[in-house]
Amino acid sequence: MGEPFLLTPGPLTTAYSVKEAMLRDWGSWDGDFRGMTKSLCEQLVALAGDTDGAFDCVPMQGSGSFSVEALLGSFVPRDGKVLVLANGAYGLRAAETLRYLGRDHVVIDKGDYMPPRGTEVGAALDVDPAITHVIIVHCETSSGILNPVAEISEAVYARGRKLLIDSMSAFGALELRVNDIRYEAMVSSANKCIEGVPGFGFVIARKTELEAAKGNSHSLSLDVHAQWAAMQKTGQWRYTPPTHVVAAFLEALRLHSAEGGVAGRGARYTRNRDVMVEGMRALGFETLLKDRWLSPIIVTFFCPAHERFDFSRFYEAMKTKGFIIYPGKLTVVESFRIGCIGRIDEHIMRRVVTAAGETLAEMGVDTAAPPAAAIAERAKLAA
Ligand SMILES: *Cc1c(COP(=O)(O)O)cnc(C)c1O
Repeated sequence: MGEPFLLTPGPLTTAYSVKEAMLRDWGSWDGDFRGMTKSLCEQLVALAGDTDGAFDCVPMQGSGSFSVEALLGSFVPRDGKVLVLANGAYGLRAAETLRYLGRDHVVIDKGDYMPPRGTEVGAALDVDPAITHVIIVHCETSSGILNPVAEISEAVYARGRKLLIDSMSAFGALELRVNDIRYEAMVSSANKCIEGVPGFGFVIARKTELEAAKGNSHSLSLDVHAQWAAMQKTGQWRYTPPTHVVAAFLEALRLHSAEGGVAGRGARYTRNRDVMVEGMRALGFETLLKDRWLSPIIVTFFCPAHERFDFSRFYEAMKTKGFIIYPGKLTVVESFRIGCIGRIDEHIMRRVVTAAGETLAEMGVDTAAPPAAAIAERAKLAA
């Protein structure tokens, strides 16, 4: 058996040709590489559906969190105030980033997985006119919930505020078109739904906001305006770019386009999720979220109540069978997650379900039904 499949939300399983694209070296200042950067930016802006040249893409070195920090530090003025919508680790991380940056902020913390809704966001903005920006996580990867970004965007712009979106684990598989959902800037990274390898993130922002961001940043290397301005002028990244990662990403973009773009990629992930969830439910596993909130990115399952179930044994046995799954992040009940993204298809997902069934049998667990406390917890979530 070869390397295991990564059923994790990035790094994830990539195509062979994506890995192969890294087998040569590029000079970062050379015209060939500048052309690669230009193409990468143009393709990403096109994926965001910008048809009037109002948006631009700024790649940033580092993992996704570096780009989130760059986004917040660059677009929120020093005297701005941010409303953070949190329902998991990534929303809380945005709040922590703002604390480091010394930017004023308030948090609506919905706990492990409840979605923020337009009405409560509107009410929070009405009582606090100092709030200039709202940040929301598109798919909160901690639980896999798909947050209602369109509803939030309406509430934000009805009150003249600005929306920033962490679409890290959704962009490329779920539509986030600038003419459908209004926002100023969004952020994602190379190693999620575009299926590249880790090494950089990117911000897609309204050009007027990029202009206005001049002088906001607390950080030299994470200044989105400065990176953008330098790229406009020289076609180069300001500091050493992850050249091999960029080459791999261009191949990943080629495969993305060949698959039918966002619609094609989203359809495969949806099929992955549907096949996997149906199979897991047949084994008795239950999802944390009701169907309406399930993203096609990653799914949280409750751990079975059965006394012989042990997550670390389950994990190791799944790994032996070729699948790396992901521990859960819920604070109330035990859970684990299975990602649907990466170079995997429904046939792989069927094998995942078979492996889970075999593992339960090996452990002597005859039903994967969750504890009553888990079901009671889930009942709090609206259908
Ligand atoms: C992956 C991810 C990030 C960034 O995480 P890194 O580990 O820094 O790449 C941020 N937000 C969300 C929603 C994510 O899924």
